Amino acid sequence: MTNQINIHQYPVGPMDNFIYLMECAHTKQIAVVDPAWDFPLIQSEINRLNGQLSMVLLTHCHFDHLNALEDVLNHYDIPVYVSNQSQTELINDLPQTQLVGEFDTISFGAHTINILTTPGHSICGQCFFVDDHLITGDTMFINGCGRADLGDSSPQALYQSLEKIKALPDDTVIYCGHNYADQSTDTLGNQKKTNPYLLCKDEATFVRKRMGFKS
Ligand SMILES: [Zn+2]
Repeated sequence: MTNQINIHQYPVGPMDNFIYLMECAHTKQIAVVDPAWDFPLIQSEINRLNGQLSMVLLTHCHFDHLNALEDVLNHYDIPVYVSNQSQTELINDLPQTQLVGEFDTISFGAHTINILTTPGHSICGQCFFVDDHLITGDTMFINGCGRADLGDSSPQALYQSLEKIKALPDDTVIYCGHNYADQSTDTLGNQKKTNPYLLCKDEATFVRKRMGFKS
């Protein structure tokens, strides 16, 4: 079956970021998720895959997830999908920017990308759900989750966003924004058993744990 999505994962940069190329095997379209740190790698991988870059997807607007965006846009005339909650004017004002929100979809090759709005780590956090793949950015890590003590964070919102992720099918494969664990992906079903942040019994417990308070 060629009508499938391939997710190519690359660890890059000094902050252990993951960036992704999402490939529609049928049409050879490629989406780059969170272009950062290594534009030559992005370019050489697109060439190796013999694909056509058709869009940028941003999980949120922190610098370590988009510091190669300018290079990408200097080489490719493609849209950049950003959360409509973004307060980053530099990104919002780009002519290529397309603001998207909850329940929006993006058609990608023979597939549909579903937007999950997931504020908490950042106000403009969003996840991309396509087939049985979920790209989570810094909302959720393998056995972890993003910080909630930054300028545009909310630990309460992060709890609600993780609850939203938990409602997806257990066989969903999680692709996160940083390489912090001893495995690079996992299923949501496994994470529901091992991720301490998904195991918190309620919002108050989660907020205490995430913010480092002793309970
Ligand atoms: Zn971040």
